[in-house]
Amino acid sequence: MKYYILFGPPGAGKGTHAGAIAEKYNLKHISTGDLLRAEIKAGTELGLKAKSLIDAGCLVPDEVVEGMIENAFNTIKGVDGFLLDGFPRTIAQAESLDKILAARGESLKAVISIMIPDELVYERIKHRASIEGRADDASDEIIANRIRTYHSQTEPLIDFYKKDGRYHEVAGYPGTLEENQSRVLKMVESLA
Ligand code: AMP
Repeated sequence: MKYYILFGPPGAGKGTHAGAIAEKYNLKHISTGDLLRAEIKAGTELGLKAKSLIDAGCLVPDEVVEGMIENAFNTIKGVDGFLLDGFPRTIAQAESLDKILAARGESLKAVISIMIPDELVYERIKHRASIEGRADDASDEIIANRIRTYHSQTEPLIDFYKKDGRYHEVAGYPGTLEENQSRVLKMVESLA
């Protein structure tokens, strides 16, 4: 099995490009954000607990998302691997992922990092807000909190993964969606 991480700040295009990568390499795309939003929609206890944190642009506790990832690895069959989108987001989650994979006799193949500047994060998220209606896309204050959270908790993962050569970066701008997608796919091709 091949395990990839799709990394980058909010609005970098992870969710947008994940489908094409997953299809090309027969991977299951797992977005922890999508899984959490599904829990909220279904009105589960987990969803209820997560909602206020998500709506405020804060991270949910590590154990919650780690459990979701482990559950997905245990139950999803018939694919050649997994493309993780939005996980890990903290060093603790990255260490936990390494342990989960080691226990399965597996390891992470690569981190595909899509980078955009903070100004573009605002622009892209505001555009998405008008289409998807996500509460955490709705206000400047919440977007600013998500950017701060990204820089303080998630960005340190870049050095974590650079240390052992698993980190590969591609620019998520400028250009049209198609141009950006083609650049991302070319980079993934170079890893395969
Ligand atoms: P996303 O759809 O990836 O932008 O995620 C939306 C929100 O879900 C985030 O702002 C967090 O509140 C929560 N979330 C998603 N993935 C994680 C994660 N790996 N760790 C903690 N919180 C997460």
